Amino acid sequence: MSAMNLPDDFTRQMYALLGENEYKAFMEALDENAPVSVRLNKWKAGTCSGSRRVAWCDHAYYLGERPSFTFDPLFHAGCYYVQEASSMFVGYVIRQLVSRPSLVLDLCAAPGGKTTDVLDALPEGSFLVSNEVIKSRARVLSENVTKWGAANVAVTNSSPEDFGGSGIMFDVVIVDAPCSGEGMFRKDAASVAEWSPASADYCSGRQKKIIADVWDCLKPGGLLIYSTCTYNIKENEDVADWMAEEFGAEPVEISVGPDWNIGGNLKPGSAANVYRFMPHRTKGEGFTLSAVRKTGEPVSGGSVRVPGKGRKRDSGSRAVPGMARDWCVAPERLDFFVSGNSVYAIGREHAPLAAALREKFNVLQQGICVGEQKGRDLIPAQSLALSRLIDRNAFACAELDYDDAVRYLRKEGLVLDDGVPGGFVLVTFEGKPLGFVKHLGTRANNLYPAEWKIKSGFVPSEYVRVCR
Ligand code: SAM
Repeated sequence: MSAMNLPDDFTRQMYALLGENEYKAFMEALDENAPVSVRLNKWKAGTCSGSRRVAWCDHAYYLGERPSFTFDPLFHAGCYYVQEASSMFVGYVIRQLVSRPSLVLDLCAAPGGKTTDVLDALPEGSFLVSNEVIKSRARVLSENVTKWGAANVAVTNSSPEDFGGSGIMFDVVIVDAPCSGEGMFRKDAASVAEWSPASADYCSGRQKKIIADVWDCLKPGGLLIYSTCTYNIKENEDVADWMAEEFGAEPVEISVGPDWNIGGNLKPGSAANVYRFMPHRTKGEGFTLSAVRKTGEPVSGGSVRVPGKGRKRDSGSRAVPGMARDWCVAPERLDFFVSGNSVYAIGREHAPLAAALREKFNVLQQGICVGEQKGRDLIPAQSLALSRLIDRNAFACAELDYDDAVRYLRKEGLVLDDGVPGGFVLVTFEGKPLGFVKHLGTRANNLYPAEWKIKSGFVPSEYVRVCR
């Protein structure tokens, strides 16, 4: 993208916001290539080929160039997430401000960059409700959450109003709001084409409505993290100021490294704490964040349990096949339940919350789907293969070379080595689970989800390694 192609109204806005010198540096930065960065899944990957770390995320790295992630089996195994660096600030904020087990809502979560970061940042015992209002995007979110492998999460496809009126109260609400996307101009030409001077006004109104819709489900003393990938004041400082006026929200300060070059509040007279990432100052795309606290006495204890005795156990009361327990590590610490044909496992302490979520929201997944019941059989689920709950000793394993791993991810048939027993086999690449096959002796039926398969016909000439 050339800065020359930007709308005049946008360049005028930025000149007014930044002044002459900064404006020039900003425009030059827009003519550079967007940096490529990945965040490692600390449960699955140890090291990264990138040598320079993202300053605010100690397990994220810049890569020298953009490899074909589609053809990296470890990408599909959930070993890392491709995320632009500025957005990783949300995980940093969680690490700094959330120190006890918490119930967290990520309201606008698809495709899942911040959700997967937050899952790693939260203290042990926490639970994340990762929501996306648009159905097709919620499915992508669900795929990315499944690949990440955490069990302390539910993916929902509900509207902000549903949460506000639910009676379920959250310690932290993250609103990574739909915005005019100015910060994505360098990466995404479509966001330039969609931008107009009126878009900031429209988005600002929608952002306030989203926050107003969920404000009631934030506990007194709770934290709301608000972020956009845009620069203008209407969608950032104005929204933060509005939260203070409308709800008495208190600005929260975040301590940051002085050499990170993060910008601050650009609105004269505004008391909001605003953290603004700009491409000429920080190595990442445009991103702006402010955090506020709801006034009132914090609710005591850090429990994520929901109030309400004798909660109805919907399909959870149906018989769970014993095999599901055998396939998980520490099954005594898990609650198993059946929903439709699927058998799920979730941490015991989160089971009442999970049941409450099923009553109130459109839940796409909760905890880990262990298997699908087909007649009297239980077929191990893809999410079990990728999860931290799987007991690998319960399955025969077959290590695939690179070509077979790509074949598996294209959902093609495989022929496994002699000696691999019949039945369900966990296939791995470099020791990381990719999924299951059903081994029939002479061939193996590929159980990789059809909707996830690599569709591109391209054949890479070599494997470009991102992590191990
Ligand atoms: N947090 C995501 C991540 O890190 O991958 C990115 C979220 S994106 C900036 C904003 C999301 O808000 C989109 O997925 C969009 O579908 C959703 N959205 C759009 N309109 C909305 C509305 N009225 N209420 C809630 N969410 C909305």
